[in-house]
Amino acid sequence: MTGRLVLVSTPIGNLGDLSPRAVEALKTCALICCEDTRHSGKLLSHAGISGVRLAVADEHRETARVDEVLGLLAAGNDVAVITDAGTPGISDPGMRLVAAVVEAGHPVTAVPGPAALVMAIVVSGFDTTRFVFEGFLPRSGRERADRITEMVTERRTVVLYEAPHRVARTMADLAAACDGERRVALARELTKLHEEVWRGTLAAAVDHTEQVAPRGEYVVVLEGAAAPADASDEQILAALRRAMGGGADRRSAIATVMAATGASKRRVYDLALTIPRSADE
Ligand code: SAM
Repeated sequence: MTGRLVLVSTPIGNLGDLSPRAVEALKTCALICCEDTRHSGKLLSHAGISGVRLAVADEHRETARVDEVLGLLAAGNDVAVITDAGTPGISDPGMRLVAAVVEAGHPVTAVPGPAALVMAIVVSGFDTTRFVFEGFLPRSGRERADRITEMVTERRTVVLYEAPHRVARTMADLAAACDGERRVALARELTKLHEEVWRGTLAAAVDHTEQVAPRGEYVVVLEGAAAPADASDEQILAALRRAMGGGADRRSAIATVMAATGASKRRVYDLALTIPRSADE
């Protein structure tokens, strides 16, 4: 019988969040893949687990670990994956091992538990029915600018991970790109002694993060963009022409303009039909 790859979520700060199922999975597997053996060794000794082999599968060595993991699974042993904190595969190693194990046809399961993004969004006070997780933003350049531009019209709540020394810069960039009145929650040190959720507008977040040097771990939760005020027919037509002039076909132009203006499909579609088709469409 084949073994299972088990992704085990570990605490994001509070050791009390290590679940009994997590302890059981870590105790009974043949190998625990982790990012840092010293860091994970402390967690295991806190949980009273000894005698299980730890192997490094950090972002540089995850792929190199695949053959060994597949061998253990084929021989009927379970292999666990943990990271320094939270859920493996979420801005952490895990994804490549899962893909390789799925490809090889072995079962993959998880012991769910802490994930900073989930806790941050549920405590933010913003809409949780639909949201986008952006992970860490690129630090600079075109890719960062493009990702921020996408957030300007993003109607769903956006969740970002950010290093403390970069929070102020990210607030400044978001405030410059989006409406400064858009609301943001800065969820800091979740589950830890100094847990704090600061809530306010982007403009106020710029002042706040400039005044108080951010320390500890942060999740940024940005409220989705408000539906734009009713666009006029002329504005919708101009947006459609811009999208179609930029090379989009009629269908994608309609989708882009609906997202940007909040106008109904029927209305944008009817207006799109009044624009003569180009010869090559
Ligand atoms: N796999 C982890 C998870 O499930 O949340 C995320 C790992 S990622 C390398 C680390 C980032 O997660 C931090 O930079 C921070 O943005 C966020 N984070 C982790 N723990 C946190 C905490 N206790 N409070 C706030 N943010 C946290």
